[in-house]
Amino acid sequence: MKLVRRHRNVPALEARKEATAGAATEPLSAPDVVAIPLRQHIGETCEPTVRAGDRVRIGDLIGESPAVVSANVHASVSGRVRDVGACPHPLGGDIGAVVIENDGNDEWTDLYVVPDPEGAGSDALRAAIRRAGVSGMAGAGFPAAVKLDPPAGSVIDTVIINAMEGEPYLSADHRTALEHADAVVDGARWIMRIVGAPYTVIAVESDKTDAATALERAAEAAGVSSVLEVRLMPRDYAAGAEKILVQSILGREIPGGGFPHDVGVVSQNVSTAVAISQAIRLGRPLTERVITVAGEGVQRPGNYLVRIGTSFDHVLEQVGTIGDIDRVIMGGPMMGIAQGDLSVPVIKPTTGILALSSTESRRVPEVACIHCAWCVEVCPIGLMPFFLVDVIRSGEPLTAEASHLFDCFECGLCDYVCPSNIPLVEVIRSGKSTISESRR
Ligand code: SF4
Ligand code: SF4
Repeated sequence: MKLVRRHRNVPALEARKEATAGAATEPLSAPDVVAIPLRQHIGETCEPTVRAGDRVRIGDLIGESPAVVSANVHASVSGRVRDVGACPHPLGGDIGAVVIENDGNDEWTDLYVVPDPEGAGSDALRAAIRRAGVSGMAGAGFPAAVKLDPPAGSVIDTVIINAMEGEPYLSADHRTALEHADAVVDGARWIMRIVGAPYTVIAVESDKTDAATALERAAEAAGVSSVLEVRLMPRDYAAGAEKILVQSILGREIPGGGFPHDVGVVSQNVSTAVAISQAIRLGRPLTERVITVAGEGVQRPGNYLVRIGTSFDHVLEQVGTIGDIDRVIMGGPMMGIAQGDLSVPVIKPTTGILALSSTESRRVPEVACIHCAWCVEVCPIGLMPFFLVDVIRSGEPLTAEASHLFDCFECGLCDYVCPSNIPLVEVIRSGKSTISESRR
């Protein structure tokens, strides 16, 4: 294992993982009803392939799209389709969804496994991943099969498997790397095969030595330790952001508006690597995931295996709540999205559900910018957050776009340090969506 240097200017955040880092993953009981959104990924919304009244088994396809950038969706329980309508989406607004009444039988569909996967070509392996609806299980949820199909002429020399989990409270990726190290390594092998890369780095934070050791053992057992390195990285928040990680590991800078494949890299989150392994080896669609449930408002904080489409209400009811909850967030406190309606479902990129007390959620009124430039100092990619917010609020989002608005990966560090409590990320997000909406 090698240790690389930290990047600059990032404040140390309290990890707050004591309640969950040591908690082995437990399956959470499935709810009586799931609402499965037809878009849980970046790209086109799926069209439903079932109708009200249809019987489904776990893993049955319930939504697909002919668009290249999309990801299939599948039933996560067996039972009867109650409705094909809409449900509130944890990223905001309502979205088309398939609502299924769970019959409690947990009956699986007949899984299609790629014949002779070891001898299969890249297209067949990508098709298996697409069929299984695998999309990024952290961040924006980019469809994995698309990410593993870089433009013609790209030469990929390194795969990065990202097991960094800098967000306070969250431990789901840590537990997945520790408990499913074999599948992580297997997923990395398939990714190398598909993109033709000779080498993989699995990036793990320096304090997760248990996961790093498990991954190294798995790589040895699989006979790939000469081409797969487990690298310990600094435990700095934002060190796991794709751009920063590529730069720290390889010294390559992804150009503004560019992608890792522009610099010879394909990266995937550690849980996504497991889903890729399951898609290829077992033909298993992505119908459940591990999430961290934590915060002072949670009675039994931990890491739970949850069916996609389970409502946040059901999750919190199962783990128990305590005291006054000020805010419920999907994801971590830095990059997560506050939820007003707890009937929203767990989706593929849901890394965690936090139920925070008022002490934890730090809600304080905004005051005027004092031009201290702390937000500039802390931004890991050198943006000027106060300026972006100023022009967006003045109705000039295109000026913000010209100042690299879309390079912002919403890490939340500027928000965190702002002494005026300006909701910088919220405004930045609104500027991005104003521009995106205007171009639809
Ligand atoms: S940190 Fe806050 S107060 Fe300071 S310049 Fe940035 S936006 Fe203004
Ligand atoms: S949220 Fe965006 S602007 Fe703010 S520090 Fe992070 S990358 Fe920079």
